[in-house]
Amino acid sequence: MQDEPIDPFTGDPTDPAADLDDPGREAPLDPLTEVERQDVLEDLADLEIYQALLAPIGVRGLVIECEDCREPHYFDWDLLRGNLRHLLTSGRPRVHEPAYDPDPDHYVTWDYARGYADGVHDTLSEGTEDEADASN
Ligand SMILES: [Zn+2]
Repeated sequence: MQDEPIDPFTGDPTDPAADLDDPGREAPLDPLTEVERQDVLEDLADLEIYQALLAPIGVRGLVIECEDCREPHYFDWDLLRGNLRHLLTSGRPRVHEPAYDPDPDHYVTWDYARGYADGVHDTLSEGTEDEADASN
């Protein structure tokens, strides 16, 4: 009645293949490397700075061009922070949960935020830097 060859290990709890890690299988938890973790922590730190600088002038969050959807996603500050923390704890991004019905006028790109923060930093440090290099 049985035409197919019977796997000698079927139903055998000592199946030698059972303990082998299948590299193709998706692990439920895929922790970030130390470098990736550091990147996310830096992003979180940057985010605090950007929010502190930009929120007072009406910016509600950042817009990120999604490579998967080929369209911009709008994230408010809390959402961004939540996504980065989620990435830290789960190892997986959660980029496809953008803000609901966002107003594009109130969102800037990550690059814009970085440039703005750099500009503010330059302004604040103007006159306090050692000008020795300029005098020769
Ligand atoms: Zn997307």
